Order: sequence, then C-alpha cells, then structure tokens
Amino acid sequence: MNAGPMLDIVNPATEQRIASVTADAAEQVASKAAAARAAQPAWAVRPLAERAGCLRRFRAAVEAELPTLAATLTSEMGKPIRQARNELTAFLGRIDFFLDQVEHAIAPEVVLAPPGRPGDTTEGITHDPLGVVANISAWNYPYFVGGNVFVPALLTGNAVLYKPSEHATLSGLHMTRLLHAAGVPQDVFIPVIGAGGIGAALLAQAVDGVFFTGSNATGARIAQAVGPRMIRMQLELGGKDPTYVCDDALVRAAAESLADGAMYNAGQSCCSVERIYVHERIHDAFVEAFVETVRGFRLGDPMDEDTYLGPIARAPQLAVLEAQVADAVGKGARLLTGGRRLPGPGWWFEPTVLVGVDHRMDVMREESFGPVIGIQQVRDDDEALALMNDTRYGLTAGVYTQDEARAARLLPRLNAGSVYWNCCDRVSPRLPWSGVGASGIGLTLSTYGIQAFTRPRAWHLRHP
Ligand code: NAD
Repeated sequence: MNAGPMLDIVNPATEQRIASVTADAAEQVASKAAAARAAQPAWAVRPLAERAGCLRRFRAAVEAELPTLAATLTSEMGKPIRQARNELTAFLGRIDFFLDQVEHAIAPEVVLAPPGRPGDTTEGITHDPLGVVANISAWNYPYFVGGNVFVPALLTGNAVLYKPSEHATLSGLHMTRLLHAAGVPQDVFIPVIGAGGIGAALLAQAVDGVFFTGSNATGARIAQAVGPRMIRMQLELGGKDPTYVCDDALVRAAAESLADGAMYNAGQSCCSVERIYVHERIHDAFVEAFVETVRGFRLGDPMDEDTYLGPIARAPQLAVLEAQVADAVGKGARLLTGGRRLPGPGWWFEPTVLVGVDHRMDVMREESFGPVIGIQQVRDDDEALALMNDTRYGLTAGVYTQDEARAARLLPRLNAGSVYWNCCDRVSPRLPWSGVGASGIGLTLSTYGIQAFTRPRAWHLRHP
C-alpha cells in the first residue's frame, strides 16, 4: 500500500522545519478503519477496570514525560512553555475526573423493579459503546480537545480513529505512543495522520460517531457530509465570546483578568475573550488598566520561561488579524496598542487593543483567534445584553460585577453554553462543555460527556 505524502512540521516561532512525518494515504485510512472495527468488540467486553487500568497507566506516563511533551507542544504550535505545561497538568486532572466518574456514569440502571411475579416487567437501561468513533481535532489545545474525546471514548469501550491537527501532529503521535505503551491495543486507538483531505477520508469511513473540534467552516462541511448518515455527531466550534464589565466591577481586577482571557495562548482559545463591553461610567478607567496590563505582557521565544505571548500557530491567520484591524480602523475605531505583525522569522502579531468599536466591524462579529480585542462602551445592562447576544456564536459569555443579584439577572439571558461571573476563559472537567448556534452541537466533559460515547439501550424484561 502506498504511503501518503510527507507532512512537514514547522516551528511557528522560527519557521524552521522541525520534523517530517509520513501522512496517511486515503486507502490506509480505510484499512485503519477496518482494523478498528475488528478490534472494538474485544475491547468493549474487557472489564471496565482493565480499560481504566490502561488509562491510569497512560496518565502516569504523561505525568512522567510532561516536560518533554510540553517542549514538543511548544515547538510545533508556539504555545509558551509555561502554558504548555499548564495544559498538560490540567489534562491530568481531566483524566482523573473521567477515571473517577466513568463507573457511575455508565452503570446499568434498573428504573422499574417489580417483585418478579409472572407477567411483571422489569425495566432497565445500559450504556453501550457507540463502536468506532472518529476524533478529528484542533491544534490549539491538542491534549484537551483530543483527550476530551478519546479518554471517555476508550473508557466506555469504543475504538478511536484519532486525527490530530496537522499543526499538532507530533503531540498526537506522543499521545498514541503513550496509550499503546499503557496497554490500549494498537487497533483500538489508531492515529490518522494528515491535513484536511485526510480528515475528509476519515469521514468517508463507516464509523459510528464523529467528534470534531475545529472551525465553524470545517464543522459545517462535516455536518453536510455526516448528517444524512444518522450517526452520532458532535461539533465543538469557534466563538466570539463576549464579556460585560458593569459599573460596579472591580476595575483593575476585571481588566487584568480579561486581558489574560483575551491574550492567553495568543488569543487562540475557543473560549478566549473576543469582545468586551464596558459600562460608560468606568469605561476609561477600565481601558487604561487593560492597556497597561497588555503592554506588560512579554512577547518572545516561547521556550523562554518568562514569555507570555508566543507566535501565532498558523501563518494565514496573520492576514485575518491585519484585515480585522484595518476594517475596524477604517470604520472609526481607535487603535490603542499593537495592530501589526512583527517582522519574521516566525509568525508574530502584536497584542492589539481597539476601542470605539461597534458591530459593523468584523472584529466584533468574526472570530479573531489571535491577540486582538475590541472594547465597546455601553450605556446600561440592557444595551450590553443586546450586544452580547448579537452574534451567531454562543460558546461562553460573562459578566463582571460585585453584585451577585445583578449577575444572576444577566447570566440566564446570555445565549451561551457556559456563563461566567467574574471569571473568563475557563473550562472545568466537571461541567458540560458545549456551544449554542454556530459554536456547535453536542458536548464533552462532565458525566454527560462520558455518556456521549454511549448509546442507551432500553431493556423491557417480562417475567414468565
Ligand atoms: P480547522 O477547522 O481548520 O481544523 C480542525 C481539524 O479538522 C483539523 O484536524 C483539520 O485537519 C481537520 N479538517 C480540515 N478540513 C477537513 C475536512 N474537510 N474534513 C475533515 N476534517 C477536516 O480548525 P483549527 O484551525 O484546527 O482550530 C481552530 C478552531 O477550532 C477555532 O475556530 C476554535 O475556536 C475552534 N476550537 C473549538 C473548541 C471548542 O471546544 N468549541 C476547542 C478548540 C478549538
């Protein structure tokens, strides 16, 4: 069988090729899917304790290799090394959550238990694995977005065809190596290597579920391809996540928290703060504290312990950011800091703050996915709410106020899968992670995100 083309892995900080990996050819994807199909039943009938044992050993191996894994992650997608370690440490916490909760989440249930006399009908529910699932992943948090799928999928008895992003392939191959060394059979977890075309080839296989994390544009393509097949499909897509800073908020604390929420990982988080609305009474003080915080962020070599802002992971995004800034300034926004790409080598964009923005501007409507933020002044809570909900996306939204009752009034009216009070850019394994509207369908994390990899079977058992 022919191998696929070589896939070059390029360091976004230097533009140097750091590795070349053989990608799959379409026919290899088909044979991988067949192997996963053949291997899945034996994995599903192994006791849960054995499957959990493999994932426990995997967790231990990730912990043991954490510094090396973090360095690989930084070199292939540019995330500052401390943030890479943060991701891996939090990934361990997510695995712990799944290991703690899986038994309870998929325990068989008896929901009606008559005494068992002739004619009595016992009713029960089991949670059966879906079968073979495709896990197509983004690059920005490869351990999180990959693991949110493959950890619960494997624990619940599925085989996984895992396509890491072409911008996080080395991390994907590390995860594969460690899973296999931990005892997950080679054909139960199979990497599928390549770019979008190989993702499309994976979708063409007879899988039982597609779990995708990535952009809205690709998600829409996947929905079109997969929809008519009536299989489980989950799409975790982008956002244009808003926050409202009320007039009673702690101005400096809110500014520092939101600057971090907007710029962490160079703004390349699905739940990055993408738009900020500030009450007119504190607008100027907030902007001053925000810009001061942003100017304090250290941009530089992502391998350096002191770096807060690294490069942009994908070169084409630089043009998107430039265009958003030009569009905003052209329509009357004021650029307070940043606004330009930096000379190479590497793909660098200055942390950028725009004020005087409004909803005619792309920066307030389209996902930036970079270190660019628009701050808009509002009159009152109603105007803030209307603007926050004026979007096709709905991943997260938040409110900063010292008044709990005010937050309790505002948060339920936000059209978003996650809402935040005095915090932002936060994901918890204990809570469902989901989007509304263009931010996707389905969910991961929480016990619902374990059951998402199962099919409830209804048992009607009549006693003779
Ligand atoms: P992307 O859509 O470009 O790629 C995602 C994955 O899909 C990659 O593995 C890619 O190779 C694959 N792919 C591309 N075309 C395909 C096709 N036609 N068929 C099948 N697979 C295909 O997205 P990205 O740049 O990797 O990720 C950034 C986006 O992901 C942002 O919009 C971000 O907000 C979003 N994201 C969302 C979440 C969430 O939980 N909601 C988490 C992380 C990232």
